[in-house]
Amino acid sequence: MRFASLGSGSQGNSLIVDTGQTKVLVDCGFSNTALSARLARLGASPGDLTAILVTHEHSDHIAGVFSFARRHQLTVYLTHGTYAVAARRQASLPECRMVDGDTPFVVGGLEIRPFPVPHDAREPIQYAFSDGQHRLGVLTDTGAITPHIVDVLRACDALVLECNHDRALLAGSRYPAALKRRVGGRFGHLENGQAAALLGQVDTRRLQHLVAAHLSRENNRPELAAKALASTLGCSEHWIGVADQESGFDWRQMM
Ligand SMILES: [Zn+2]
Ligand SMILES: [Zn+2]
Repeated sequence: MRFASLGSGSQGNSLIVDTGQTKVLVDCGFSNTALSARLARLGASPGDLTAILVTHEHSDHIAGVFSFARRHQLTVYLTHGTYAVAARRQASLPECRMVDGDTPFVVGGLEIRPFPVPHDAREPIQYAFSDGQHRLGVLTDTGAITPHIVDVLRACDALVLECNHDRALLAGSRYPAALKRRVGGRFGHLENGQAAALLGQVDTRRLQHLVAAHLSRENNRPELAAKALASTLGCSEHWIGVADQESGFDWRQMM
């Protein structure tokens, strides 16, 4: 199993997971043209994909999902809550399958474990993946770490982990007070220290890849995120990947 990012941050998110036989996207916050160009950079094309798994209805995750899925005949997986708020805006829908936030399901050669997260959307979830050999955990857009999140992500071979902001940078930023409260609150986004604390609660002995994701341009710096995560793992900051808004990150293979 391998995975890559097509871009990560408040301007748009999309991740690709590939078992060799099965390729799925997690979210698509980009236009059709932008997504196709970003896929091409990774040597992939829309025709290679089977499905799009949606985490929640915020536009940086869902903006391109329905049009891209319609155009390329992909199945969209999403929760009832996300469907209820996102489908209202659509003139016509691609094939949609409902995801229960606590029930694993299979797409091709991928076992997919959704899990609920505290975030200010209708029914937000995140996903962990297994090809039977390796486990990849993806966690962004959560305001807090719950015991259930720790349980699902407890022994992964690879983690993509939100490091949205640095607490001090957010506090000192020019964001209005209400937005600071929203971003830093329990239903907002994970800060570097929370992400680092999660790493301290899970078994990281199998961890081959760790990538910080969904960084705020205003309120974080790649080196701050890497430093926070490295301090918990006791590894070099250079070992930590950081997903970029423009370029995401290149394929990472699990061995
Ligand atoms: Zn987001
Ligand atoms: Zn969100």
